[in-house]
Order: sequence, then C-alpha cells, then structure tokens
Amino acid sequence: MDLELLARIVNTPGISGFEGAVQELVAQEMRGVCDEVRRDRLGNVIGLKRACRAGDRPIRVALAAHVDEIGAIVKGVDADGYIRFQRVGGLYPQTLQSQMVIVHGRQPLKGVIAPDFNLREGDKIPSPDDLLIDVGLPKERVEELVQLGDPITFAQELVQLNEKVVMGRNFDDRIGTFCMLEAMKRVAEAPVDAYFVSTVQEEVGVRGMPTAAFAIEPDLGLAIDGSLVRAAHVKPHSVTCDMGKGVGIYVMDNLTIGDPRLVRFLCELCEREGIPFQRNIGGGTDASAMQRSRIGTIATTIGAPVRYMHSTVQLCHLDDMEATIRLLAAFLGHAPELASLL
Ligand SMILES: [Zn+2]
Repeated sequence: MDLELLARIVNTPGISGFEGAVQELVAQEMRGVCDEVRRDRLGNVIGLKRACRAGDRPIRVALAAHVDEIGAIVKGVDADGYIRFQRVGGLYPQTLQSQMVIVHGRQPLKGVIAPDFNLREGDKIPSPDDLLIDVGLPKERVEELVQLGDPITFAQELVQLNEKVVMGRNFDDRIGTFCMLEAMKRVAEAPVDAYFVSTVQEEVGVRGMPTAAFAIEPDLGLAIDGSLVRAAHVKPHSVTCDMGKGVGIYVMDNLTIGDPRLVRFLCELCEREGIPFQRNIGGGTDASAMQRSRIGTIATTIGAPVRYMHSTVQLCHLDDMEATIRLLAAFLGHAPELASLL
C-alpha cells in the first residue's frame, strides 16, 4: 500500500465544488493505468480501463468514490478583520472551535476558528454562523486577500497514529479514493470495462454522481465510502461494524437498498478470497445515483470503517483498507459471474 500516495490524496484540499486540485492528482494517477481519462463538465474524473478480451459488448462496471471533503466558504469579513463562513456539507458545530483552517484566497492563508471563552458548561453549542476565523492580519489586508465565496478547508494533515491506524480530516471519502486507485493499479487486466469514477459534490447531496452515471451507463456499480463503526460515544447497538475487522458491505443506507443479489455475491466473494468483511448499514452514498440512472445499475456501497466521520480526526485501520482494495480488485475479476442478472 502506497502510504505516500495516501498522504498526498488526503492533504490536497478540495471541498465540494472546488475539487480541481485533488482531481488533477487523481487524473494523473489514472493516466498511467487507464486507456482513457476524462473530466466531465461538473468535475467528475472518469478513468476507463477496457476489458482484456474483445468480443460482445463487455459488462460495464463502475467503481466510484467521492473526492470532495466538507469545509466552508467565506461569507464575509467583519469590522475587526475576522472572517465569517458558511458551511459546505455536514460540519458538526461541536467540532469547530480551535480548529486550524486554510482560507484559499488570492493566496492560502492559515487561520484558526477562534475559541469562545464565554461559553460555560451546559451552554448551547454556538451556531457556526456565530464563529469567526482569525488569520492574524489587519482587516485591510484580509480584504485584499479574501473575498466572499473563497473555499476554506481544515488544515489537519495525515497522521499515522501507530503501525495500523491512520488519522485524517477527510477520510470520508479520501480513503475511498485511495482504495479505488490502489485497486485500479493492482488489476493488470479485467474481463469487464472498468470505470473508475472520482466524483464531486457528494457531501452536498450526491450532486456529482448522476452525470457520471448517465454518461457511463454502468451495468454494475460499487460506491466506495466509509462504513459506520463502533467508536467512543457511539452507542454500540447503533452500528454494525468494528474497526480492524474488514471491509464493510452496505446492505442499506438512507438513500439506497443495496441490491441483495449483489450484496450476497460480494459476501461470498470475500469468503472465497479470504477477505475479512462485515455487513454495514450506512448513511447515504453515490450508489443511490448509480442505482437510479437510466435503466438502473445493480449497485451497492462498500468501504473501510471510518471512525468520527465529518470531524477533523477521522480514524481508519490499514487492514480494513487492504481488505477494501482486495474486494474491489476481486470484484473486477469476477463481475461476469453476475451476467445473468443483466
Ligand atoms: Zn462519504
């Protein structure tokens, strides 16, 4: 596993709608391996690796991971030079104070979300609308460098906590991006037309996947996204996965019921290949858009469990990433076994 690539993928900023820099990195990785790489008008990057055997139309398989991360945009600069912001995606208000951020203005500006020391135990958590970013510069200078709409990302970079566990601000879903690219590199040839889709704007309501799914018209599809997992402050019965126990296979989420025949196939494939897996009930992913595009795609979601999604301290286990990569690669090899469903 190329942890240096993981660091580059995680550390490159890209909130929903502003994914350009990280998509360039993804496209570069694809160019070395795919027969074709294109970027659609919305910003999705689509790599195609053609089937190794020519003949009748090969089955089209799409693997999709969303590359956007949650963050904010600049809403204004107040009289003292502090920056107000508008949330992009599902930020939890209780995670925001004292975070270090980068404001991507005319030049990147480091700053902090100022802690409010007036708060007392038992007070309501302040709305993000009332929080202020301090970049340590006078108002006039801030106004020269920053304008309404500039994207803001959290500054936290990848950290390896120990031999097996890594931490990052955007593992939802850069772990998915990374696992997709690693699987793409491991599969020398596949009996299907394999589409690798790095989607945009998932965190603001699955807005990127629909155009990519329409263009590709996949027969089979897997979204790759974080699986919900037992963690501190999580009620143990509310989630079904454990960190370090394998790739999560979604049976259902808020937007999709995973095709049960596909779910069964994936579980059996894991058993055959000796890949540790666990069944998951998830939040809501790009699989929903694949499933409902055109005449439909047989789809679900898989992915490594990620603790503390939508915070700056998301945790993931390297063994779970390895299991995810192995399942993706095995799926590309064995997908024709599902031909009778099409
Ligand atoms: Zn996600």
